Amino acid sequence: MNLELSEEQEAVRRLAEDFVAREVTPHAAAWDRAEEVDRGIVKKLGAVGFLGLTIPEEYGGSGGDHLAYCLVTEELGRGDSSVRGIVSVSLGLVAKTIASWGTEEQKREWLPRLATGEALGCFGLTEPGTGSDAGNLATRAVRDGDAYVVNGGKMFITNGTWADVVLLFARTNDAPGHKGVSAFLVPTDTPGLTRRPVHGKLGLRGQATAELVLEDVRVPADAVLGPEGKGFAVAMSALAKGRMSVAAGCVGIAQAALDAAVRYAGEREQFGKPIASYQLVQELLSDIAVDVDAARLLTWRVADLIDRGRDFATAASKAKLYASEAAVRAANNALQVFGGYGYIDEYPVGKLVRDARVMTLYEGTSQIQKLIIGRALTGVSAF
Ligand code: FAD
Repeated sequence: MNLELSEEQEAVRRLAEDFVAREVTPHAAAWDRAEEVDRGIVKKLGAVGFLGLTIPEEYGGSGGDHLAYCLVTEELGRGDSSVRGIVSVSLGLVAKTIASWGTEEQKREWLPRLATGEALGCFGLTEPGTGSDAGNLATRAVRDGDAYVVNGGKMFITNGTWADVVLLFARTNDAPGHKGVSAFLVPTDTPGLTRRPVHGKLGLRGQATAELVLEDVRVPADAVLGPEGKGFAVAMSALAKGRMSVAAGCVGIAQAALDAAVRYAGEREQFGKPIASYQLVQELLSDIAVDVDAARLLTWRVADLIDRGRDFATAASKAKLYASEAAVRAANNALQVFGGYGYIDEYPVGKLVRDARVMTLYEGTSQIQKLIIGRALTGVSAF
């Protein structure tokens, strides 16, 4: 793997860095306090091309590679994880999955709008009763003529209150031994679909997280994404790529933690000298720096495997596992460098700790990633 960025990749990285410095970082603390990112950011993310980065040009995207996507995701995560999540879900989990599994009509209907931010997507897999055990979901879609009638509920759906379309997973077959889940593209203004904001999150407070309630929602049969009954495979393929995006966001958090900690250590004086001159503070900084590099290299490896058409699922689980745990460690180490000032929200590191924490939980907890890696090593499923 070539670790030198190409000119195009470096240009994309710089574009993202400039965008974040202008449109994200100055507002991140206020959005966090207000528990809402300014909604205008969606159009701006679309206009700069980030919501269609890896979508083919014929469907309104820019046909970029996955390393470029990682670079943009890292920069967004460095500025504000709430904004990073908007892109990771709408592009990474929804648009990319439509591009991989959709019919020509589904691609033409949704991709150009998702790529520009005219429409936003959300991913509806988790339910109140099923998180890690997603295949066991209870939402049901029953065939009725040329439509399905869907009843059930979804929990913790990122972009949920803002989204125009939900990639929804529901059970269509109860036969014993049949996973029987199908994927549907459901416009969020469909009658019977209601959305309730989830408030009081520890981190990602600016993000529009929602609970979805589905009561007799009629979905046309041509809204099934991928083959009927293969929805679990659709979900798992989306999440495997999504884990790379989460990992890249974690690298961004860890890099932001490093930047802030190095700067503060050089400015803050105790015992008559900058705290950067003490060996134990340098230990904290060097631990963060190693975590940043290791997480970034694991993440780039996934992008390289995807771009070369190789198997990447286990590598994505390794990258997500390592990078999410590294982001939590890095943010926590940075808070230690800031001392008491790290604990109040005038300084940026407290938000990094809160935003990092969820990364070990969603798109498969750290325990679930270990079970995926363990299954690949042993051939035995320990789920
Ligand atoms: P549980 O599955 O109940 O797990 C609880 C604990 O048990 C964890 O420590 C877990 O690791 C452990 N555990 C479970 N099973 C095993 C096992 N077999 N072996 C060992 N340990 C096990 N979901 C979506 O569909 N779309 C979204 O957009 C989305 N966004 C989210 C945003 C936020 C802010 C949050 C918090 C969650 C989001 N989720 C989303 C849901 C997320 O993916 C789930 O929370 C996650 O999969 C864990 O499920 P759970 O919370 O039900 O925990």
